[in-house]
Amino acid sequence: MATELQSTDLLKAYRDAKLVKKVVEEIQQRVTHPWSIMEICGGQTHAIMQYGLDQLLPEEIELIHGPGCPVCVTSLELIDQALWIASQPNVIFTSFGDMLRVPGSNNDLFSIRAAGGSVRVVYSPLDAVKIAKNNPEKEVVFFAIGFETTAPANAMAVIHADKLGLENFSILPANVLVPPAMHTILNNPNNRIQGFLAAGHVCAVMGYWEYPPIAERYQTPMVVTGFEPLDLLQGILATVEMLEDGRVGVENAYARVVSFEGNRAAQGLINRVFEPVDRKWRGIGIIPQSGLGLKNEVRQFDATERFQTGDIQTQESDICIAGEVLQGIKKPADCPAFGTLCTPNSPLGAPMVSSEGACAAYYRYGRKHQ
Ligand code: SF4
Repeated sequence: MATELQSTDLLKAYRDAKLVKKVVEEIQQRVTHPWSIMEICGGQTHAIMQYGLDQLLPEEIELIHGPGCPVCVTSLELIDQALWIASQPNVIFTSFGDMLRVPGSNNDLFSIRAAGGSVRVVYSPLDAVKIAKNNPEKEVVFFAIGFETTAPANAMAVIHADKLGLENFSILPANVLVPPAMHTILNNPNNRIQGFLAAGHVCAVMGYWEYPPIAERYQTPMVVTGFEPLDLLQGILATVEMLEDGRVGVENAYARVVSFEGNRAAQGLINRVFEPVDRKWRGIGIIPQSGLGLKNEVRQFDATERFQTGDIQTQESDICIAGEVLQGIKKPADCPAFGTLCTPNSPLGAPMVSSEGACAAYYRYGRKHQ
């Protein structure tokens, strides 16, 4: 009970209106130039819209929304592979709930389930392992999506299944990594990013030791930032101060959660099971060494090999501009389909479906003309 009260009080403190106003005033006092800052994480995009932080900031500050929505960046090929596996007769397909409405080339996991497929929502990959243990006559597959944040739990599921000797469990590996995406975005000649808010939860796992060389190479300051209104504004203030002072480097505005080294035990789990592989990002293309594939020693848990999904052909919507939205080149409201042909009830692309998608945030919080 004491811990619950403490965490509630802590949350209240990070949402305190007076403190929010004070940090906004500090930002106003520090800004002398227009600056474009990208928040990488989709969770941060939603928090910014939910609390109206974008509307509180001085007009010189433009927030650009990044690719940090794992559901959004999962390639159409992987989604079609998931749909194909889920429609096989002897399969129980397990996934986080967000993925069920993400459109593949022709349908989604909901429609597979409506047509009689066994698709189950789980809250942890370890739940999928339990389902496999309890259903030895079925093939149980877990859709292992996410950034570095979900990779330790996905690795743990493979290790646990291996220990239990389960031969009917596999994962569809879809984890992606933030630093290679940063390189791709910053190498795009159309990018307008002058500073980055690095995603606090990814850095809680990985630390931020990977970021200083990127900041240096592209001369772009970065600030590790959390998710509450004050966290976000303090991250923005620190970024603005670095930009105004002409400083490049990485600062940590989320020190109550993130250390430079990160969680070494979690990194150890990732390295035990996964290795970096080239991965295709939806709407962006292949980013070298940006995904996590299973190592040889545990390759028997790879659903793509078990189900031979290699030659699935995909058909991307020719209207959806998710690739440009995910790289911060365009805003959701720039899309001609936004709010008309594409809505949460009839999505054309994943960013309109996911709880971390920028298009969903714009739709939900009424940002139609930014
Ligand atoms: S509004 Fe819909 S169609 Fe347009 S970019 Fe977003 S998801 Fe794609």
